[in-house]
Amino acid sequence: MKPIGKGKAKDIYLADNGDIIFEFTDRVTAFDGAKKAEYPHKGEVCCSLAAYWFKILEKEGVPTHFKEKIDSNRMRVANLKILPVEVIWRNYVAGSLWRRFEKSEIKLPEDTEAREGAPIPNGMLEFTTKFEAVDRPVSTNEIIYEGWMTEAELKYISEVTEKVNDIMFSRLLKKDIILADFKIEFGRTSNGEILLADEVGTPDGCRFWDRQAYIRGEFLSLDKDVFRKNKGDLSAAYLEIFKRITKD
Ligand code: UDP
Repeated sequence: MKPIGKGKAKDIYLADNGDIIFEFTDRVTAFDGAKKAEYPHKGEVCCSLAAYWFKILEKEGVPTHFKEKIDSNRMRVANLKILPVEVIWRNYVAGSLWRRFEKSEIKLPEDTEAREGAPIPNGMLEFTTKFEAVDRPVSTNEIIYEGWMTEAELKYISEVTEKVNDIMFSRLLKKDIILADFKIEFGRTSNGEILLADEVGTPDGCRFWDRQAYIRGEFLSLDKDVFRKNKGDLSAAYLEIFKRITKD
């Protein structure tokens, strides 16, 4: 096994057979790496939840790069060429969408109230750059113009992202968790097949809100916003969301 890279939270290795091994560390970063820390159990929680969702999504017909969970914080995945675009799906107004709206940089989707936490009735799909120093929103025109994806690939990725949302959103709602938004990535195999890549359904890449608190008018975050916004102990929040998602 040869180390080939370090992401913000994961260490990446090349296995002897050409697969990739992800080691989920306890590192956490926010604001494009400007804020950093380590929290016990974080790596295990993210590895276990990513494996949990990859298995469900595969069963529901979403092709992914997941192969197997090796131990508490490592998984084996297929070696892909990661597409240079991150895909964001939003069910509620939060995070950078709210910040851009407040600065009049963006309009909210139709029938969406202008307040943080408002539901977005039909959801919202956005794309950002992946390999630039600071993630920046990109239009579908720019993606095609730059040759990052074909129009057909973009259509496929958009459909898969909506399907991933439908699957996770409905399962989480049954556990009284609101999936406010999430980010996913895709990669291309040597045959040109597009697979869901990186990680999915973890508190690093999703906003999870406790539904009962939301009904009371509060935001109880069970995700990385605990760290971004100094809302308490990240280890406790991650262990709590892990317990709630994997119960039953
Ligand atoms: N997100 C992510 N990685 C990034 C940027 C965003 O996983 O580099 C996730 C984030 O956790 C949230 C969703 O994508 O669930 C939407 O993020 P947003 O654009 O609101 O930015 P944020 O304010 O979270 O940085």
